[in-house]
Amino acid sequence: MDNKNKPVILVVEDNDDNRQLVLKVLSRRNYEVVGVVDGNEALERLNTINPDLILMDINLPNMDGYEVTRRIRQQENFATLPIVALTAHAMVGDEEKSLAAGCDAYITKPINVRTFPETIATILKEHMP
Ligand code: MN
Repeated sequence: MDNKNKPVILVVEDNDDNRQLVLKVLSRRNYEVVGVVDGNEALERLNTINPDLILMDINLPNMDGYEVTRRIRQQENFATLPIVALTAHAMVGDEEKSLAAGCDAYITKPINVRTFPETIATILKEHMP
């Protein structure tokens, strides 16, 4: 992760409880975490936050996580940034849709707080240059 002490993880999640849980679980590990409530906030703050990984809730108000992901992928700086989709209901086709929108991985909610940080660490490692 270059010279940064901690990988920065951006959490895009409109549900307060879910967002707080993910932030809490990850901040206990060696991560700097930033939470935003929707796609507009994510897109507005993306360059400033400059995350190493994004956790993207799919079911968001106004603009769903697929659309947010597509818009992030249009930006050259973030063409290969790891984006992990989070969805509450594992519907048939959700994983395929996430991958088609440009996500790298897919995690079903509710998250398992014990295995979640390891899963994130693995994905980060896979995407290190
Ligand atoms: Mn949601």
